[in-house]
Amino acid sequence: MERKILLSEKEIPEQWYNIIADMPNKPLPPLHPGTLEPIGPEALAPLFPMELIKQEVTTDKYVTIPDEVRHIYSIWRPTPMFRAYNLEKLLDTPAKIYYKYEGVSPTGSHKPNTAVPQAYYNKMEGVKKITTETGAGQWGSALSFACQHFGIECEVYMVRLSYDHKPYRKVMMNTWGAKVHPSPSEATEIGKKILAEYPDTTGSLGIAISEAIEVAAKDEHTKYALGSVLNHVKLHQTIIGQEAIKQMEKAGDMPDIVIAPFGGGSNFAGLAFPFLRLNFDEGRNIRCIASEPASCPKLTRGVFRYDFGDTAGMTPLLPMYTLGHDFVPAPIHAGGLRYHGAGVIVSQLLKDKLIEARAHDNLEVFSAGVKFAQAEGIIPAPEAAHGIATAIAEAEKCKQEGVSRTILVNLCGHGNFDMKAYQDYFAGNIVKHELTQKEIEASIAKLTTPLIP
Ligand SMILES: *Cc1c(COP(=O)(O)O)cnc(C)c1O
Repeated sequence: MERKILLSEKEIPEQWYNIIADMPNKPLPPLHPGTLEPIGPEALAPLFPMELIKQEVTTDKYVTIPDEVRHIYSIWRPTPMFRAYNLEKLLDTPAKIYYKYEGVSPTGSHKPNTAVPQAYYNKMEGVKKITTETGAGQWGSALSFACQHFGIECEVYMVRLSYDHKPYRKVMMNTWGAKVHPSPSEATEIGKKILAEYPDTTGSLGIAISEAIEVAAKDEHTKYALGSVLNHVKLHQTIIGQEAIKQMEKAGDMPDIVIAPFGGGSNFAGLAFPFLRLNFDEGRNIRCIASEPASCPKLTRGVFRYDFGDTAGMTPLLPMYTLGHDFVPAPIHAGGLRYHGAGVIVSQLLKDKLIEARAHDNLEVFSAGVKFAQAEGIIPAPEAAHGIATAIAEAEKCKQEGVSRTILVNLCGHGNFDMKAYQDYFAGNIVKHELTQKEIEASIAKLTTPLIP
């Protein structure tokens, strides 16, 4: 079999897939935090362009991808799919393991799949500047790249931990013309307030989101962009799974299990939703598993209730699996997975048992990452290594049970900017970290947001 399964540029899908059209239980509405009444899409208008707000709430099954966006996609799409023969051999498993490789994008992850259309729709509506947060630096890089393409100013609030660990991510953003602040920063009111209270904080995505929103809300020509969690972000990412289905068909195979790492849900949604469509439309039984860190386990150990998307409580209340909006995860290297909540669609799917979730501890994750690099050559981002850990666990289960299953995992980014993480692992500085039930309960007990019956 051909090792690399190619698609040509004309096979880049022409539409994104909107899973809301097929969900048996639609996501519950966002609520206004003051009145607790459902809010309409117009409440998002100060922060997002109208076209993205429409995509946020549409129930159309497909949304057409603008030609200009497909044109930019063609710089790196379709992304390749590979069969991990050497990893299979190393594990001595009867399972077949495929991976879809999103690390070939200009910024090294799946994030430009949504950064490009988001910048495009902002440009169409005359926006001059976009603010955002970034955890590991992947989203900030992707938005910087996309804004530079369309001539929009970009300002990034980067979680302090990553800012210190990954100085070259900052330089990358600067190369595409973006301004980068360590978060919490002195540039915003919420940043100053948090710094006064916790001067040594390593920051969190929730805090960085609050800062970026504060700046966008104050200026009518500035909008805000989010790299995960929201419905329109997941919509854009479905380009991944649609390509993957065509590639699996070319290989004459189809996955029994689809796996992707989970931060806010965008790359998981991107790969898994088009396969879930096959379950809905064709009655297939493809299992989709989200992989999260044991130190930030909102899917496997969080609660399903209304909560804020950010730390300061500036967003609407969203129905989601959460650990509590002021939960600050341990400073693990998978910065992109250090988020307290899960996107609304994915939360509803998990609640309805249409998808599954697994948590992996940090040591298991890096061991999986190194195994993968040694077998397949590509060094995975620490986030991506979570998906690989799940894939390895499933492949080992196949071996124990003496059955062959086909596994497809999203290698959502390379780890070439994550050498500090691998260095720490080799030096023995990465320790097992799992939250106690008491810690989780203490964080959730602080929530006063509405429960979901
Ligand atoms: C941002 C990021 C994640 C986590 O975000 P999702 O929205 O859950 O995809 C995971 N992996 C990589 C490489 C990322 O850049």
